[in-house]
Amino acid sequence: MDWHRLREDFPILHQEVNGHPLIYLDSAASSQKPRCVIDAITRYYERDNANVHRALHALSMRATDAFEAARRTVARFISAVTENEIIFTRGTTESVNLVAYAWCGAHLKPGDVILTTGMEHHSDLVPWQFAARSTGATLKHIPVLDDGSLDQEAFERLLTPQVKLLALVHISNSLGTINPVREMCAKARAVGAISFVDAAQSTGHIPVNVQEIGCDFLAFSGHKICAPTGIGVLYGRMAVLEKMPPWHGGGEMILNVTLDSCTYKAPPARFEAGTPDIAGAIGLASAIDYLEAIGVSHIEQHGLELTSHALEKLGCIEGLRILGPATGPRGSLVSFHCDFAHPHDIVEWANTHGIALRGGHHCTQPLMKRFKVPGSTRASFYLYNTPQEIDQLAEVLDSARKFFS
Ligand code: PLP
Repeated sequence: MDWHRLREDFPILHQEVNGHPLIYLDSAASSQKPRCVIDAITRYYERDNANVHRALHALSMRATDAFEAARRTVARFISAVTENEIIFTRGTTESVNLVAYAWCGAHLKPGDVILTTGMEHHSDLVPWQFAARSTGATLKHIPVLDDGSLDQEAFERLLTPQVKLLALVHISNSLGTINPVREMCAKARAVGAISFVDAAQSTGHIPVNVQEIGCDFLAFSGHKICAPTGIGVLYGRMAVLEKMPPWHGGGEMILNVTLDSCTYKAPPARFEAGTPDIAGAIGLASAIDYLEAIGVSHIEQHGLELTSHALEKLGCIEGLRILGPATGPRGSLVSFHCDFAHPHDIVEWANTHGIALRGGHHCTQPLMKRFKVPGSTRASFYLYNTPQEIDQLAEVLDSARKFFS
């Protein structure tokens, strides 16, 4: 794979920032978009734009076909049994909120437990707090060990028959830890709990197969995998979706409406009230086609190589402490704390050298508290990054050390 040539597909990368060629190392927050995705969205608005599912005119039929084809593309990408298990949402956050409202509202009662972990993004934590508050259920957390992994012994102890839902992140956006989701979902199932996997950082980076993972729900965001913002996915196992009431009411999710009541369509329409993000879904399908043409396993391998290169290079910088697993595979990001400067100073310093990093709590405040740091600096990689960019990052971080020390 010629990763350097592939950069040509991303128009945004060919610019200077502060007099330096842009080095974009913030893909865990949002990825860049290849030309084919930008073109697919433009083409849709130039040729096919109309509302879906509603009219029999040519444009609406074309828009509907493309929208429903996108659903099939997503289903194939994550190996869902049927495209009816794919619900389009605005992103991971909305997917979690949907389940926290609709599934928890219908199934939880006081005494029940929602089990999550100490390394969740706020998106996979706050909605469960809401659900616990409104249903009377209790929220419990699997602790994080010093090496950035989950305490599996504590998990076994916490996994009582009272647990009705296990919600956990596949790859931590702050640490890079890859959690053993398959084993953990199987254990949850054994006590009768359903499982929710936050795959915002894994989808499009490593192969994600919902049947192999054995989860009941899985969520990801389009914008993190080369697709536009505003579109995301909630996968739900059909047997679970069928027993879940809707959350938003409105057009398209109903069968029959009277002035006093209504009946609902089957999933996924039941969970997609109103006009969806049609262009977003088409952009998402184009992004998935693009990633599949490269091969997600190749992207995974590239991510592993970049990450181990970064661990080696950054590990040599005095006063820089890397958070998360020191050995073994990890997600394509490296999070670190510098003794010599606050994360925001590091990010600003890098920005003056054309490098885009992220600094702060990364929407994981409990995790930062756990590791006794105010925040961290994160460099995150995707298919368009190169080892040379990491070499430059290491040089700039070393210059920051000299400047701030
Ligand atoms: N979960 C994880 C692990 C994330 O990294 C993010 C975003 O950074 C989210 C959830 C939320 O994604 P979004 O803001 O696209 O809904």
